[in-house]
Amino acid sequence: MVKYFLSKLLLTAGFILIAFSLTAQTQSQLSEAADYSFEIYKQIHQYPELGLQEFKTAELVRTELKKAGFTNFHKVEGLPTCVIAELDTKKDGPVIAFRAELDARPGEEKSGVPYTSKIDTVMHSCGHDAHTAILLGTARLLNSMKESLRGKIYFIFQPAEEIKGGADDIVNSGILEKLDIQNIYALHSASGLEVGRVTISPGYTMAGSNYFTIEIEGKGSHAATPYEGSNIPLITAKVVNELAGIPALQMDITERPAVISVTYIETGRPVGLNVLPSKSVMKGTIRAYEQIDQPFNGQPSIEEIINRQLQPICSTPGITCKIDIRKGSPPTYNSPELFEKVLPGLTKVFSGSIDTTPNRGMFSEDFSYFTENIPCLYFSLGVAKDNLGYANVHSEEFSVHPGAFIYGIELFADIADLQR
Ligand SMILES: [Zn+2]
Ligand SMILES: [Zn+2]
Repeated sequence: MVKYFLSKLLLTAGFILIAFSLTAQTQSQLSEAADYSFEIYKQIHQYPELGLQEFKTAELVRTELKKAGFTNFHKVEGLPTCVIAELDTKKDGPVIAFRAELDARPGEEKSGVPYTSKIDTVMHSCGHDAHTAILLGTARLLNSMKESLRGKIYFIFQPAEEIKGGADDIVNSGILEKLDIQNIYALHSASGLEVGRVTISPGYTMAGSNYFTIEIEGKGSHAATPYEGSNIPLITAKVVNELAGIPALQMDITERPAVISVTYIETGRPVGLNVLPSKSVMKGTIRAYEQIDQPFNGQPSIEEIINRQLQPICSTPGITCKIDIRKGSPPTYNSPELFEKVLPGLTKVFSGSIDTTPNRGMFSEDFSYFTENIPCLYFSLGVAKDNLGYANVHSEEFSVHPGAFIYGIELFADIADLQR
């Protein structure tokens, strides 16, 4: 790893001739790790498993880590598919962790790649297979070079990023304190971002995700005589309309970015189109950079605004509304101190480009549970090139270009090497 780092420094300094042989070694080590990683990726990609059911994937990860020489593994109570491997350099130094996710999502893959999912209705549409494969490649590379590293490095392969019970359960288990982990790093595939490019910015970078269920009950009637009942579909439409308008009309969105989306509506029956039903259920998500049950700079909380705005609709005579708002993962926060510590060095040695332009998105990520507790950095990795890596994450067309793997491994390896 000294050679690895030195070669990069020399290359950066322009001593190309002196560095030539070392650079060749670095490149071959990275290329080898990337080739390995891509092979692993194809295996995981073909056999995706949903959250908390990642037994085969976790077994593959454990087997590959053992093959690479890892012997120390840490269990998380109640999370059998979580794999945490330890690399102890036996030298004083920082204790850091890298994290990848194991779970896939529901979906029928239409990416067109030859190693497409062999499991009906399940696919890796969020790139977690790529992240796991990149972390395995990194673990193998770093373990083979541990003489030149310091401190301890933990490799966290977490289940259930897409559903409840992943990062939050790891945090709640107390394992991070037990292992004395000081910083955690993660990356995520960024569709549309070119291979070789990485983005990261300090502070809040991804929204928190929260959920709601609204049940409306009233009096059903014949569709021909809506005046005899509550006209629940019409009331439901008013609620959807009101919710969508809240961020734009009731909040200062320059200070409080937020999105409220109704994603599920159930009312009536597919047959009996002449009946106005007596009940509807709506579900959806609230994305925001604030705690939705807390006031914001003296203004009412989002939860309070929702209740206030729905009040006139819900007080329609004969109507009852049950509004259930639940907090999910918090916003993802990149520690500005850690950013200042790591980025200057990282930008110098990383062979791709790192864009640090402030960037916020309304997507969310359960890595936020780590960032709430420990200084962390969360990178976006470019996966787009040729005709792969452009479709959005969570779409059935989602894919990752093979060229992205080497940059993911290099990014993590550089971070590990900068811990001196
Ligand atoms: Zn996802
Ligand atoms: Zn994801």
